Amino acid sequence: MGNRLAGKVAIVTGGNQGIGRAIADRLADEDAMVVVGDLHDNRSSVPGSVQGLTFMSLDVTKEVSIRTFVDEVLEKFGRVDVLVNNAGKVIHKSLDEQTADDWDGLMAVNLRGPFLMAKYVAPEMRRIGSGAIVNIGSVEGYIVNPWHTAYAATKAGVHGLTLGLAVDLGPDGIRCNTVCPGWIDTELNRAYVEMHAGRSFVEQELSQLHPVGRIGAPAEIANAVLWLASEESSFVSGEMISVDGARTKKISLPAILDEEYRAKLMKAW
Ligand code: NDP
Repeated sequence: MGNRLAGKVAIVTGGNQGIGRAIADRLADEDAMVVVGDLHDNRSSVPGSVQGLTFMSLDVTKEVSIRTFVDEVLEKFGRVDVLVNNAGKVIHKSLDEQTADDWDGLMAVNLRGPFLMAKYVAPEMRRIGSGAIVNIGSVEGYIVNPWHTAYAATKAGVHGLTLGLAVDLGPDGIRCNTVCPGWIDTELNRAYVEMHAGRSFVEQELSQLHPVGRIGAPAEIANAVLWLASEESSFVSGEMISVDGARTKKISLPAILDEEYRAKLMKAW
């Protein structure tokens, strides 16, 4: 498609599927050498992926796995220019149901993982004098769905990590930013929607929550990540960029007061 990342080596965590796979494909489309680090080697189950991805096993909850992974990437490719911290999980549980293990497990993937990845990749970026770290946060770092206490805390933490890394690593030529996706059509969300009997009603309601009249696609997150990973955003660091079809910009109204607006969105849908 292009050569905006020609000669660059990019790591994408959790890139076997969903948003991570779209990011890996998009960066490879722009000539980056992309290393996907994920728990399982299920590359053959994902159709339509572009050539040029290398798959290596990685568990971001384990420091030894991260160290080994980064060493292997350096051994094979000799450098790291871009790190995309995408691997993430979610749990839906009330505060009463949540255990300390639930909390620790989610923190380990969503927040400790990105911290450790940055820690082990930064020395290499420092050596070459430049680098771009792009985290996948969430609009749930700002606003939250019910039963997402732990998830929201991890994502707000990622946003804080972004600020800290931008400040600490800026003098080394390393930028750090976060993309905050809204509702994106991945397997994870599809399964959630399909759980409900009135599936098409849920889809319609979901679309109406977005001023653009629809939910997002993984490729739309990947485009934002590409921009932040490339030199086109060379003066952007420490930013949280929402990619959410303006969902977080519209204040909720009682349905009855919002009828005209919803009707307009329905027509577009
Ligand atoms: P998916 O569940 O589809 O993909 C997540 C990937 O991360 C999976 O391949 C998963 O592997 C992998 N993974 C999980 N744990 C680890 C680990 N310990 N080490 C390495 N890889 C791991 O999720 P999405 O694509 O939907 O989400 C990607 C990111 O985007 C996440 O950070 C999520 O929080 C964020 N996000 C998603 C939104 C959405 O609407 N989809 C909205 C806002 C943010 P496995 O399947 O084997 O567990």
